[in-house]
Amino acid sequence: MDYEPYRRAISKKVCGHCIDLAEDGRCTLTGEERCGVELYLEKIVDVVHSIKSTNLADYVQALRKQVCSSCKNQNPDGTCRLRGEADCGLDRYFALVVEAIEEVDTR
Ligand code: SF4
Ligand code: SF4
Repeated sequence: MDYEPYRRAISKKVCGHCIDLAEDGRCTLTGEERCGVELYLEKIVDVVHSIKSTNLADYVQALRKQVCSSCKNQNPDGTCRLRGEADCGLDRYFALVVEAIEEVDTR
Protein backbone atom coordinates (compact mmCIF):
# COMPACT_ATOMS: atom_id res chain seq x y z
CA MET A 1 0.00 0.00 0.00
CA ASP A 2 1.27 3.46 -0.90
CA TYR A 3 0.69 5.63 2.16
CA GLU A 4 2.11 8.82 0.67
CA PRO A 5 -1.21 10.18 -0.69
CA TYR A 6 -2.65 9.74 2.81
CA ARG A 7 0.35 11.44 4.40
CA ARG A 8 -0.04 14.42 2.06
CA ALA A 9 -3.81 14.67 2.55
CA ILE A 10 -3.52 14.53 6.35
CA SER A 11 -0.72 17.03 6.38
CA LYS A 12 -2.87 19.47 4.40
CA LYS A 13 -6.20 18.93 6.13
CA VAL A 14 -5.08 18.24 9.68
CA CYS A 15 -1.60 19.65 10.32
CA GLY A 16 -2.44 22.73 8.27
CA HIS A 17 -4.95 23.70 10.95
CA CYS A 18 -3.12 22.38 13.98
CA ILE A 19 -2.09 24.68 16.82
CA ASP A 20 1.24 22.84 17.05
CA LEU A 21 2.36 23.62 13.50
CA ALA A 22 5.10 26.25 13.27
CA GLU A 23 5.05 29.05 10.72
CA ASP A 24 7.70 27.27 8.66
CA GLY A 25 5.30 24.34 8.20
CA ARG A 26 7.06 21.99 10.61
CA CYS A 27 5.45 20.29 13.56
CA THR A 28 6.74 21.68 16.84
CA LEU A 29 6.19 18.37 18.64
CA THR A 30 9.38 16.37 18.34
CA GLY A 31 11.25 13.67 20.26
CA GLU A 32 9.29 12.27 23.19
CA GLU A 33 6.33 14.47 22.32
CA ARG A 34 6.13 13.46 18.65
CA CYS A 35 2.52 13.33 17.51
CA GLY A 36 0.64 10.10 16.86
CA VAL A 37 -0.39 11.41 13.45
CA GLU A 38 3.24 11.08 12.36
CA LEU A 39 4.21 8.10 14.48
CA TYR A 40 1.31 5.85 13.56
CA LEU A 41 0.23 7.06 10.14
CA GLU A 42 0.23 3.65 8.47
CA LYS A 43 -1.66 1.99 11.31
CA ILE A 44 -4.19 4.84 11.33
CA VAL A 45 -4.90 4.40 7.61
CA ASP A 46 -5.38 0.66 8.15
CA VAL A 47 -7.73 1.31 11.08
CA VAL A 48 -9.88 3.67 9.03
CA HIS A 49 -9.98 1.16 6.16
CA SER A 50 -11.16 -1.55 8.53
CA ILE A 51 -14.31 0.40 9.51
CA LYS A 52 -17.32 1.34 7.42
CA SER A 53 -19.62 3.41 9.58
CA THR A 54 -21.27 6.81 9.78
CA ASN A 55 -20.55 6.88 13.50
CA LEU A 56 -17.17 8.35 14.47
CA ALA A 57 -17.31 6.41 17.75
CA ASP A 58 -16.76 3.18 15.81
CA TYR A 59 -13.52 4.60 14.38
CA VAL A 60 -12.43 5.87 17.78
CA GLN A 61 -13.02 2.46 19.30
CA ALA A 62 -10.82 0.84 16.63
CA LEU A 63 -8.16 3.52 17.12
CA ARG A 64 -8.01 2.82 20.84
CA LYS A 65 -7.70 -0.88 20.21
CA GLN A 66 -5.19 -0.84 17.34
CA VAL A 67 -3.10 2.25 18.03
CA CYS A 68 -3.51 3.64 21.55
CA SER A 69 -3.13 0.17 23.10
CA SER A 70 0.51 0.06 21.99
CA CYS A 71 1.29 3.77 22.38
CA LYS A 72 3.78 4.50 25.14
CA ASN A 73 1.58 7.31 26.42
CA GLN A 74 -1.35 5.09 27.27
CA ASN A 75 -1.48 3.78 30.84
CA PRO A 76 -2.29 0.15 31.68
CA ASP A 77 -5.77 1.24 32.79
CA GLY A 78 -6.50 2.62 29.31
CA THR A 79 -6.21 6.29 30.25
CA CYS A 80 -3.80 8.66 28.52
CA ARG A 81 -2.49 11.88 30.02
CA LEU A 82 -2.03 13.53 26.62
CA ARG A 83 -5.55 12.62 25.56
CA GLY A 84 -6.91 13.79 28.90
CA GLU A 85 -5.34 17.21 28.39
CA ALA A 86 -6.20 17.41 24.68
CA ASP A 87 -2.47 17.31 23.93
CA CYS A 88 -2.54 14.44 21.44
CA GLY A 89 -2.93 15.85 17.92
CA LEU A 90 -4.13 12.50 16.64
CA ASP A 91 -6.94 12.36 19.17
CA ARG A 92 -7.78 16.05 18.94
CA TYR A 93 -8.16 15.99 15.17
CA PHE A 94 -9.16 12.38 14.64
CA ALA A 95 -12.44 13.32 12.89
CA LEU A 96 -10.43 15.33 10.34
CA VAL A 97 -7.92 12.49 9.97
CA VAL A 98 -10.75 10.09 9.07
CA GLU A 99 -12.18 12.62 6.60
CA ALA A 100 -8.78 13.13 4.95
CA ILE A 101 -8.27 9.38 4.50
CA GLU A 102 -11.76 8.82 3.11
CA GLU A 103 -11.35 11.74 0.70
CA VAL A 104 -8.24 10.09 -0.74
CA ASP A 105 -10.22 6.86 -1.18
CA THR A 106 -13.00 8.56 -3.13
CA ARG A 107 -10.68 10.27 -5.60
S1 SF4 B 1 0.83 17.90 16.35
FE1 SF4 B 1 0.19 16.24 14.96
S2 SF4 B 1 -1.58 17.09 13.88
FE2 SF4 B 1 -0.44 18.82 14.77
S3 SF4 B 1 1.02 19.49 13.19
FE3 SF4 B 1 2.07 18.03 14.47
S4 SF4 B 1 1.82 16.03 13.38
FE4 SF4 B 1 0.26 17.45 12.61
S1 SF4 C 1 -4.50 9.38 22.55
FE1 SF4 C 1 -2.75 8.87 23.89
S2 SF4 C 1 -2.46 6.67 23.61
FE2 SF4 C 1 -3.66 7.41 21.85
S3 SF4 C 1 -2.15 7.92 20.26
FE3 SF4 C 1 -2.58 9.79 21.43
S4 SF4 C 1 -0.97 9.85 22.98
FE4 SF4 C 1 -1.04 7.74 22.21
